[in-house]
Amino acid sequence: MNEAESSSKIEKRWTSPMQKAFHFDSSSEPYVADAAVLCCFDQRIRLAVNKFLQRRGILRPDMIVVAGGAKTLASPRNDFERDFILEQVRMSILLHRTVRVFLMSHSDCATYGGLAAFGGDHGREADHHKQELLRAAELIRTNFPEIEVECFFVTFEGIFAMKADAVEQVA
Ligand SMILES: [Zn+2]
Repeated sequence: MNEAESSSKIEKRWTSPMQKAFHFDSSSEPYVADAAVLCCFDQRIRLAVNKFLQRRGILRPDMIVVAGGAKTLASPRNDFERDFILEQVRMSILLHRTVRVFLMSHSDCATYGGLAAFGGDHGREADHHKQELLRAAELIRTNFPEIEVECFFVTFEGIFAMKADAVEQVA
């Protein structure tokens, strides 16, 4: 293929109309987000998280789904990662008037090396995540003092709410 043919092919690709690949009627109404929710992209926790949010009345969440969830604030791989997530929260507040942030981490998260990194000890793992969630919450409070923060640790048996000095199962 010569250069002219090649460029005309590219042009055609970009000017041809998009084809409908799926039909689904969605509400186009603007909304106020019930919460910005930072959680891991691990598919194993998705259903539990979705059901939990519904149970909590978080029907319009701004989902920030990234590898590690709250780890991106507590123990970011680099400044870019942390700043990017803070910016996502800022955008949720700005665009959807979010007043609450849910921070989540989960058991056997690969970004921590899984449960194996804690020698298979669920207690040690939970203690570590508690510290991580507290640090992530502190960062949110420092950056967005007006925002309410709640922290949750997701396991394969349920979801645990973090309090300053205790952990309680809520789902
Ligand atoms: Zn994970």
